[in-house]
Amino acid sequence: MVAEGSGNIRELRNFIDGEFVASDKTFENTTPVDGTLLSHVHEATEDMVDLAVAAARKAYKETWGAMPVEERCKILYAVADGIDARSDEFIEAETLDTGKPRSLASHVDIPRGAANFRVFADLIKSVGTEAYQQDTPDGAGAINYSVRQPHGVVGVISPWNLPLLLSTWKLAPAMSSGNAVILKPSEETPTTATMLAEVMKEAGMPDGAFNVVHGFGPNSAGEFITMHKGIDAITFTGETTTGGAIMRAASENVKALSFELGGKNPSIVFADADFNAAIEGTVRSVFANCGQVCLCSERVYVERPIFDRFVSALKEKAEAMKLGRPEDADTQMGPLISHEHRDKVKGYYDLAKELGAKVVTGGGIPKFGDERDNGAFVEPTIFVGLEENSRIQKEEIFGPVCHITPFDTEEEAVGMANDTEYGLASTVWTTNLARAHRVAQNMEAGINWVNCWFLRDLRTPFGGMGLSGFGREGGQHALNFYSEQKNICIKL
Ligand code: NAD
Repeated sequence: MVAEGSGNIRELRNFIDGEFVASDKTFENTTPVDGTLLSHVHEATEDMVDLAVAAARKAYKETWGAMPVEERCKILYAVADGIDARSDEFIEAETLDTGKPRSLASHVDIPRGAANFRVFADLIKSVGTEAYQQDTPDGAGAINYSVRQPHGVVGVISPWNLPLLLSTWKLAPAMSSGNAVILKPSEETPTTATMLAEVMKEAGMPDGAFNVVHGFGPNSAGEFITMHKGIDAITFTGETTTGGAIMRAASENVKALSFELGGKNPSIVFADADFNAAIEGTVRSVFANCGQVCLCSERVYVERPIFDRFVSALKEKAEAMKLGRPEDADTQMGPLISHEHRDKVKGYYDLAKELGAKVVTGGGIPKFGDERDNGAFVEPTIFVGLEENSRIQKEEIFGPVCHITPFDTEEEAVGMANDTEYGLASTVWTTNLARAHRVAQNMEAGINWVNCWFLRDLRTPFGGMGLSGFGREGGQHALNFYSEQKNICIKL
């Protein structure tokens, strides 16, 4: 069990070929809530990654990849049930690793993490392929049809902001398609991946079909995966610069890649919007998960007639936000993921001030007078007054912060919103139906919301453009990435 170890300090081992494997080299996992040590994590060596790849290849060929779909799905449903059965433990582990409020982990991270296995087990049973009748010069014709074949072994490299949710969002379609997988969770949040290994074993997952290797990026488990000849495809969610490094490493052996990267997402609020809905929605889209959701709005554009009213209403909400420990029922915002990340976010707060931003609220580090002062908290922050070409408007901060800019015309708002190298998500608030469709369709982003934010139908295409990545996850789009489609042409 994960809880193995001395006292409350856990030992998190790698999971290779159905066994938990220790390493001589460990690193510490602490909680950003108050800096307490949670676990010693066993860092996988290159040899261990080799063993995981060999085990995965064998499982792909002999067990998991060869299993009838119906049987494979039964195991995936058992995995979902296994997560649900230990839901409280998963929620506790996720909140300690990330510092996020329990209310968030219990509504989003863990139930959706389990649901991903059910959704993709359902989908793989009904997904179709293409078939075409073709004319030929002799008049007899030909038929073409395609079949899906898994890649074989897929490397899954995931981030820390929604650890279980975002890794299962990849694992479930990859595994339902028949691939064996090697998961490398973020070094910041290794616990739920290790627990998932226990659930997999309990659910009857064949040895080697699911492996977990712990570690970092360069010269550690992450890079060992991206450079490995025995891994056929890599699916990655994380920072844009990391995506670049992975792309270079994976180019050596020409692997299939799917990248969900960073964002600098705009939210446009028109004067005709339902004001309260726009405020409530923007509070969520800026501050949810302490601003550490790739879909969060960091640039808010508000039509001038309601600008002052909007800024003061958002300020009031930000200042009323309860910062606290995950387990406290009234906590709305936890800490950032780490002190290192807090230094980065605080660096942007300071830069905004240096560049002449007006601080509407926040901009600093809160003082609690208790052990939370050892945690990685920052204040929810709103800036106004910066130029659109300032670094604050161009670079992803990934914290509880936005800059609000006024606009006068729809064209101006669309122009500013699209003036970014990223292209992940956008949000539009308006009650004008024609404008809602027009503006949403003009957004240069993969995921666009009107009068809502983070409303997800798991069948829809999910992914970014430009620096936000390429490839689409979700529903059949994910299944298309995790399998090769082979065409068969039959001359009649
Ligand atoms: P990160 O890039 O620092 O790390 C992500 C993972 O990559 C970790 O497991 C890390 O160990 C690994 N890694 C780092 N360097 C590597 C290398 N050279 N080779 C192989 N693996 C390597 O990202 P993060 O800080 O964990 O996550 C935050 C970022 O993720 C933000 O930029 C956010 O926008 C982005 N994100 C995007 C989406 C999306 O769907 N587009 C979703 C969530 C997060």
